[in-house]
Amino acid sequence: MSETQIHTDIDYSQPRGKQCGHLAVPYSHNLGGWANLRIPLCLIRGGPGPVVLLMAGNHGDEYPGQVAILKLWRELTPEDVMGTLILIPCLNPPASKAATRLSPLDGRNFNRCFPGIPNGTVSEMLAHYLSTVLFPMAEYVIDLHTGGRSMDFLPCAHMHLVPDLKQRVRMLAATEAFLTETAFLYADVAGAGLLPTEAERQGKIVITTEMGGGETVRATIHRQCQAGLHNVLIHCGVVRGKEKTRAEAGLGPARWVQALDRADYRFAPESGLYENCAELGEPVRKGDLLGQVHFIERPDREPIRVEAHADGIVVANRGPSMVGQGDCVACVAHDVDPRELP
Ligand code: CA
Repeated sequence: MSETQIHTDIDYSQPRGKQCGHLAVPYSHNLGGWANLRIPLCLIRGGPGPVVLLMAGNHGDEYPGQVAILKLWRELTPEDVMGTLILIPCLNPPASKAATRLSPLDGRNFNRCFPGIPNGTVSEMLAHYLSTVLFPMAEYVIDLHTGGRSMDFLPCAHMHLVPDLKQRVRMLAATEAFLTETAFLYADVAGAGLLPTEAERQGKIVITTEMGGGETVRATIHRQCQAGLHNVLIHCGVVRGKEKTRAEAGLGPARWVQALDRADYRFAPESGLYENCAELGEPVRKGDLLGQVHFIERPDREPIRVEAHADGIVVANRGPSMVGQGDCVACVAHDVDPRELP
């Protein structure tokens, strides 16, 4: 039994229908002693069948997934749905409005708050609610990301290399159903407590993305995110329709790449003005220049090189040009057949 402090007007046991409401997270501020933070939530149930929890806005400044889910909220009816679809277009509305990664209310990175704390900060309370109320209901957990303002990604669906092989095989198929050119096995190099990690630990089929990055979202990225998501929901068996294979969509096989080693993630050795020197998707060899740090106060200083540590392709680049020492500035990934991995 959950000891959550969060209230909702949604009845999760209703056998059929579309309910639009919210989660109310207790949040006291100087002009609102008994206030709450509202997280919009929509539950669409067509009948018995798979339960899919679909979310975006885990980091506020990552918008393509938020747009895609807002559209589904208005478009889908119980007639379109087999089983249950739970939509949370934005997990972190204050961060989304402020265009920030972290919550302006508690300063937390929501994606480091799992499994959460029932009487913690707003981010910790919401993480606890997801971990103890929503994840246990779901078979599939979808969390749509981008690189936000800090990174630019080769648009991709991605996943952890989960140890359970049955779960892994289903996640590989679901990840490929997103129909991105590149599919990416990633590792956690910046702390623990991620949403997907907790959902995976509970045995869920977890589907995540990095749909580009930066504040500008090109129309092609929105289209790719919405079309990929639609195909994934059909793949999960929760939305009616015929799943498209890559071949039917006019695409070649997905290119699987992995960055499972900490060295695959490149960090700024000094603070300064960063120049990206390799394009997303560009092949690089060991020692190639990925980027370099310049010094606006020291024009006489040679820039500091950031090099590829091994052969691979560039899957992520630095977003803002000003970097601080220790900021991630690039990720180099390597071709892999994920079905051959132990
Ligand atoms: Ca993100």
